[in-house]
Amino acid sequence: MEERWTCHGCGICCRHVIIPLSPEEYARIRAQGWDKDPTLAGKRLFVRTQLWPPRYRLAHQEDGYCVFLSPTGRCRIHERFGAEAKPLVCRMFPYQTVALDKFAYLTLRHNCPSVIRHAGQPLSQQEDQWRPLAEHPRLRPQATVPPPITLGYRGTWNQFLRSAAVVERLLCNPSYPMVRRLVHALLFAQTLDACRLSRLDQERYIELLRMLEESVPKEAEPLFRDRVPPDAASQFIFRRVLLDYLRLHPGFPLQESWQGRIQWAKMALAIARGKGTIPALAPPEVALKFEGEPATFSGSVSLAELDRSLTGLHRDVLKPLDEYYEAMAISRRFAVNGRRGWPLTDRIRALAASFPAALAVLRLATPGRLPTADDMMAVVIALDRGEGLASLASRTYRRRLRALGRSGQLIRLVIWWAR
Ligand code: SF4
Repeated sequence: MEERWTCHGCGICCRHVIIPLSPEEYARIRAQGWDKDPTLAGKRLFVRTQLWPPRYRLAHQEDGYCVFLSPTGRCRIHERFGAEAKPLVCRMFPYQTVALDKFAYLTLRHNCPSVIRHAGQPLSQQEDQWRPLAEHPRLRPQATVPPPITLGYRGTWNQFLRSAAVVERLLCNPSYPMVRRLVHALLFAQTLDACRLSRLDQERYIELLRMLEESVPKEAEPLFRDRVPPDAASQFIFRRVLLDYLRLHPGFPLQESWQGRIQWAKMALAIARGKGTIPALAPPEVALKFEGEPATFSGSVSLAELDRSLTGLHRDVLKPLDEYYEAMAISRRFAVNGRRGWPLTDRIRALAASFPAALAVLRLATPGRLPTADDMMAVVIALDRGEGLASLASRTYRRRLRALGRSGQLIRLVIWWAR
């Protein structure tokens, strides 16, 4: 299916997202004189993210919207100085390039309701919009070395692309539900990690990929016969990941104030213990609409919701989630973008780990009721945002994923949360 998008002005892309600035962008926006603008008087415009050399990102308003978003849902920089004056990340959104050796894929971020709903113009008809951006020197594909395949083996571009193609076929196989496809991909990663790939020539490497692609579905069968819950230590690690995805949900009541920070600390404690209540997530009709005022939504949700079975979800509810993983695999975005230095096998684990997190967030977002496709759309927005979150791209997270993968607990987590 061809990806589609047209801006519907919902403002989701300007909320809760980190907009990093290159030194030139920082200097340019500073020179625009916003400190003298009465609508932004006294507001912090930039947040320093790195001490030396200094690096900055755009600051947020209290409700999580970008400091430059006006109450009418327009970007102030765009309104006053035109699109070229905005940071490149904003100009590019929701287009995303995936640079490979001699070419690049173009895909769309799923942090946008229009992309998830396929509500807009096909990408093929938007070339005049995306091509000048995709050819920007910062985004142009470069002939760099391929990402490593495993921790100890880099391989050639050919081997990397063939391995990523296997992951695509495993994750897009319509004969299985997404949970099963992700387990196939995890088994594939596990075996690749266990092989001495440096001893294989090109022909034998291709043969290995073929054998693995054939064997993983059979290997996965017994794992689904008896669903064994993950152990307590793995559940604890998982709840930390869940916390990261929860705060990326568009309905998360994030407040950039002291009160908000205290609320956040209490929530983190409750999630770590797996007991108690946390602030409720706003439903899609509140979370996905820009009203010019901070979305007000109160209430709490019990963490006992996490034990709820999601059996029998309608196909239409699962569709946005399935399509997200398929788009990640087809575009190779999961294999190349973000998570610098991570090998392919660890990237497969990160992708798979987002699945139980998605289903846990879905349970918490729909207490006592059946989730709808719009509920799932809000969850997919959180997943897509997670691709840019530093804690989900850190070395610590990679090490935890590897440990969970080695012990077989990651597969258990994926299967358990899909129940
Ligand atoms: S700079 Fe403009 S486009 Fe970018 S996040 Fe802020 S308001 Fe949105």
